[in-house]
Amino acid sequence: MMLLLVFDGHNDTLTDLYAPEEGEGRSFFERSEKGHLDLPRAREGGLMGGIFAIYTPPPEGSPERDLHYGLTITEDGYTLQPRSAVDHDYAKEFTEAVIDFLYKLEKEADGEIAVVRTYQDLERYLLEDVLSIVIHLEGAAAIREDLSDLEAYYERGLRSLGLVWSRPNVFGSGVPFRFPHSPDTGPGLTEAGKRLVGECNRLGILIDLAHINEQGFWDVARLSDAPLVVSHAGVHALCPSTRNLTDEQIDAVGESDGLVGVIFAPAMTRPDGQREEDIPVTGIVDHIHYVAERIGADHVALGSDFDGAQMPQELHDVAALPNLIQALRDRGYDGEPLEQIAYRNWFRVLRDTWKG
Ligand SMILES: [Zn+2]
Repeated sequence: MMLLLVFDGHNDTLTDLYAPEEGEGRSFFERSEKGHLDLPRAREGGLMGGIFAIYTPPPEGSPERDLHYGLTITEDGYTLQPRSAVDHDYAKEFTEAVIDFLYKLEKEADGEIAVVRTYQDLERYLLEDVLSIVIHLEGAAAIREDLSDLEAYYERGLRSLGLVWSRPNVFGSGVPFRFPHSPDTGPGLTEAGKRLVGECNRLGILIDLAHINEQGFWDVARLSDAPLVVSHAGVHALCPSTRNLTDEQIDAVGESDGLVGVIFAPAMTRPDGQREEDIPVTGIVDHIHYVAERIGADHVALGSDFDGAQMPQELHDVAALPNLIQALRDRGYDGEPLEQIAYRNWFRVLRDTWKG
């Protein structure tokens, strides 16, 4: 059977490769058993492009570098101590270094990968078999509160922005990691956050609602004139994590002609919220199917979180994407709906959001 092409809404590969202690020194151009995504494995799995996140880790020496820091196991789940904001200057320095690193990779790739700036780029790279890279900031900590540097980021290729990661910043607040718990965990956008939404709309930068708390979500839903997009999350009714979307949120995404990129991470997809990797790939299909049944197959897509989270055994890396596609076929998806989920929906929302 022909390999179905996939556009994936979220990975942390750039951050992982840039910080050698994370990426264990692997190269983007050589097939590795480490990590989840490199060019040879992307080709093998049918990945033609994706949104590549830049995530600023907690500063060196911070106890929050340990992912389990402040973990409390409860009777039916867990809570993680809320994460602290990161300093703007530190985030800016880190972010710019990763962008430099990406452009170095692009040069070394000799035409095999390219940073996407317009919708036309996306279509062209698809035809030319070039791996498309959309630059995304996972949390806006690197952006000045007065937004005076947002346009410079745009010029450098920024086309997608998560207003917050799971921590606060001057624009809003992300959800702390808790299970089971509602995503309604705190205040919505600040005045600066509201201005940021307007500026993203004006420039044509996609606003990503992954990690934002529920009040922030509704603020964006009210203010933004672009489709609502959640790049990597799951369904709260199937896995009641703070990171996952309630039915009302899913409906709002559908009404805006946006999309939900379904995450593959066990902690966000397993009904018990545990991190164990032995969730079958059909567990991911359950989330995709739920969203498709509720708001249509034209509003659900993929948002793996490769290199940013643990993966289920059957989707251990990007080369295993065909396992997911097969499981979708087994659930009855084929033809146009399957292509919509695999990449067409992402293409549509990027086209409808970007200017040019
Ligand atoms: Zn994330």
